[in-house]
Amino acid sequence: MDDSGKESKFTAVNELAKRRGFFWNSYEIYGGAGGFVTYGPLGTRLKQNIENKLRELFVKQTGIFEMESSAITPGKVFEASGHVDHFKEPMVECVKCNKRFRADHLLEEYAKISSTEAEKMSLNEIHEALEKNGVTCPDCGGTFNAPQQFLTMFVTTIGPYAGATGYGRPEAAQGIFVEFNRLYAMAREKLPFGVIQIGHALRNEISPRQGLIRLREFTIADLEFFFDPEEPQCHLLRQVENETLRILLAENRLKDSEETVELTVKDAVAKRIIRAEWQAFFMAMAKKLLTELGVPAEKQRFIEKLPWEKAHYSSQSFDQEVYVDRWGWVEVSGHAYRTDYDLTCHMKASGADMRVYKEYATPVEKEQLAVKPVMAKLGPAFKKEAGKVAELLSKADPEEVAASLKKNGHYTVGNYRVLPEHVDISLQKTVVRGSRFVPHVVEPSFGSDRLFYVALEYAYRVKDGRVLLSFPRDIAPVQVGVYPLMSKDGLADKANEVRKLLAESGLMVEFDEAGSIGRRYARADEAGIPLGITIDYETLSDGTVTIRDRDSWQQVRSPIKDLPELLHKYFQGKLDFEDLGTLLRV
Ligand code: AMP
Repeated sequence: MDDSGKESKFTAVNELAKRRGFFWNSYEIYGGAGGFVTYGPLGTRLKQNIENKLRELFVKQTGIFEMESSAITPGKVFEASGHVDHFKEPMVECVKCNKRFRADHLLEEYAKISSTEAEKMSLNEIHEALEKNGVTCPDCGGTFNAPQQFLTMFVTTIGPYAGATGYGRPEAAQGIFVEFNRLYAMAREKLPFGVIQIGHALRNEISPRQGLIRLREFTIADLEFFFDPEEPQCHLLRQVENETLRILLAENRLKDSEETVELTVKDAVAKRIIRAEWQAFFMAMAKKLLTELGVPAEKQRFIEKLPWEKAHYSSQSFDQEVYVDRWGWVEVSGHAYRTDYDLTCHMKASGADMRVYKEYATPVEKEQLAVKPVMAKLGPAFKKEAGKVAELLSKADPEEVAASLKKNGHYTVGNYRVLPEHVDISLQKTVVRGSRFVPHVVEPSFGSDRLFYVALEYAYRVKDGRVLLSFPRDIAPVQVGVYPLMSKDGLADKANEVRKLLAESGLMVEFDEAGSIGRRYARADEAGIPLGITIDYETLSDGTVTIRDRDSWQQVRSPIKDLPELLHKYFQGKLDFEDLGTLLRV
């Protein structure tokens, strides 16, 4: 039951998931630990199939690279990326029972303050709003202390050394950015290119109470797509330009309106509603992914993030949302235009040069400042070090040297203080063949567990009082059930032969001989197995079997020898159920 007393789909889906081994809360024998789940046999397969579908659309069809890096990350990386300063949520503690809660979530749930408003508030404003609305501890009714910011990254030490701080990564993206130079080399030093990483992310969520939607350890799929901001055209846009996107624009959200606009990808780009073409392309692909996972278009939308809701690195962000029964609109993927923010941060903090070189179509003659060390002056001033100073000056940016000398009367390079008389600065004509710049990035970022949850909720149906999971046929965890009508008279042996034939052809098959055939069908429907094959006495005489459809419960009859080809075609979407054999009247 949910708070309103009616059984929500969320409760039903979670109960079914636990009963059938899709997933359950982890560490149950020790009383459980909030925010961690264990996927059972059916769930593990379903999750793999969902991630493979994501790979199919985003990796195979676009030539994007996949990579894998570690979850524990040295502190420096997240200091440089801004996460240590920004990856925080407002938290309050009950003075009576010491339970801690996400303050903005309390305001949404108990003071009916929208998340848009709550996210904008300062800690003081949150405090006032909690008091004004009389929000007290949902567990014991106690009052709260003053809210504070809580860093939601897991902190650890790397090795036995105090001070060697490490963090559990809250996103997989940084693992890609820090390896940019190597990945760029693998892309044969050509833009644009993209890299995806699908792996575990860790967020020490304050009060995770929404099942798979809010976990402390979850699977993230971060795709970083690098492009030249001067050549931002997406050559794949034509593939999706007529796809429509439903968007709740920032301007409407500011007016508290839920009104969405529906426009084609082409229009969204032309009207600059989505600023980066590559971002528009990935949003269209994200819609396709959710549709193929079984979520109808009208249950999907994008919302444009407001300035104070955007992550610290983003210039324009959209969330892709899916409507779920218990929680309303829930984010399933984030689409951020990260510009050159991350690479620039890592360049500054690490000293590595992550700029890429672009050759001009035709070389241009330019007047450029040139800095020439005056050895006659550097020698007496820096003695043995003079050569080193001269070398450092030759690598320095002449514009920077000139500006610093003008403004400060000196320029610092390494530990050396260079004065105006130490250098000759002049304008020189040079032929410039190219320039260096930091690539821009757009990022679609999916949470596998949320994709999993919405796929499960949208597959959930009740037919004649019985539950079925109507997964799209290509993500079903088991493809075919094989059932001997009886365990005797050689039917089980024959069924085993059929199971072997299908498994060897590459299908995911389950053999079930326990209980009446009706009960086995019911179990298979609940596990979302699209097709059931029954071996009966007729099979022994004519080599045919019945194939049963999970959703319509219709049956057709087909020869065993045709099954591998027919079923593969069916799972590739090339045949419908009725094409699998002769329809039987049941
Ligand atoms: P974000 O970087 O916050 O935009 O997160 C990217 C995606 O990860 C979101 O769109 C969600 O699908 C997923 N996600 C974020 N936080 C969680 C969480 N605590 N539990 C499960 N999935 C999450």
